Amino acid sequence: MGGRGDGADGGAGPAEDGPAAPSFLCDAMLGGLSRWLRGAGYDAAFEHGIDDGELVRRAQETGRLLLSSDAGVFQRRPLRTAAVRGIYVPRGLRPMEQAGFVLRELGLPVRDPRCMACGGALAAASKASVLGEVPAVVVERYDAFWRCERCGKVLWKGSHWEGIAAGVAAAAAAGR
Ligand SMILES: [Zn+2]
Repeated sequence: MGGRGDGADGGAGPAEDGPAAPSFLCDAMLGGLSRWLRGAGYDAAFEHGIDDGELVRRAQETGRLLLSSDAGVFQRRPLRTAAVRGIYVPRGLRPMEQAGFVLRELGLPVRDPRCMACGGALAAASKASVLGEVPAVVVERYDAFWRCERCGKVLWKGSHWEGIAAGVAAAAAAGR
């Protein structure tokens, strides 16, 4: 538990697997952050309108790492006793910067993107298997597709998330 991001200055960085990837639970204000974290390769849950008590309870149940910009959340007993792990996300940052902040705090790399809708893992899908599910113009233009293993959503190179990993990586690097 004493880990402080050893060797953060090294140029090499964690190569292959790196540290274990945590799953996140974002508070009701951090929906944008949840999508950026998914784009950066992390499973991040978010529920619109969830109240703080339920948020903390769910983090405790699921073992997810709680992300909140509400200082009051960190006064709650499960966080004070470290039964729930949480990171305070400073206010006034854009979602991309928030994601960069979180990865930097934890010393985590940007990974292969996960589903922007739900945070599920993406599996490569053949063009034939996605016909009828994506616009014809997309089928014409792109050859690489992925399907979310959790919700079934189809993504392709050139979708909105393509630039996200690069953006988060830049934001993570910028703070130091
Ligand atoms: Zn999904």
